Amino acid sequence: MTTRKDWDTYFLDMAYMASTRSRCTRRHVGAVLVQGKKLLGAAYNGAPMGVPDCSEAGCMLVEEYELQNLEGAEQVIKKQRCIRTIHAEQNLLLFTDPKDRENSAVYVTDQPCWTCSNMLANSGVTEIVYHRPYNKDSTKVTALMEQKGIIFRRLETYTPPPGTSEPIKDPLV
Ligand SMILES: [Zn+2]
Ligand SMILES: [Zn+2]
Repeated sequence: MTTRKDWDTYFLDMAYMASTRSRCTRRHVGAVLVQGKKLLGAAYNGAPMGVPDCSEAGCMLVEEYELQNLEGAEQVIKKQRCIRTIHAEQNLLLFTDPKDRENSAVYVTDQPCWTCSNMLANSGVTEIVYHRPYNKDSTKVTALMEQKGIIFRRLETYTPPPGTSEPIKDPLV
């Protein structure tokens, strides 16, 4: 016998289901919009409609340098990032109605990056729930959410549905 899923698990499962539509070979991200207990939108990271996606044209990689603190020592780390796709959170904002976002929650598989967080902070949503951490932008994103009074929480004990969360080739630590 299985126990009934709580709402957090239910909606984060939906975000993971949406992420399976992504064709970026580096990262699959899904997001859903929830108002009350109602699902009002779902999105994933992808190229604009009608444009070749990562599986057809390959990822569009840019290199970036990031300052990281490793065991007390600051180090410059070179990273690659795919910029072909519109992030799931941004697609969610493109395809949902502003009215539907008022006092709503966004469930997203990954902690939003700075740009997505900035947009979400101005979108009407009042809660963001995520699963996988994204440390790079975490400090400034958390501060922004605090300033805006947006509930920002991670479901640490959550486990994605089988087959929806393949290992990421290049973890964005
Ligand atoms: Zn890609
Ligand atoms: Zn983003």
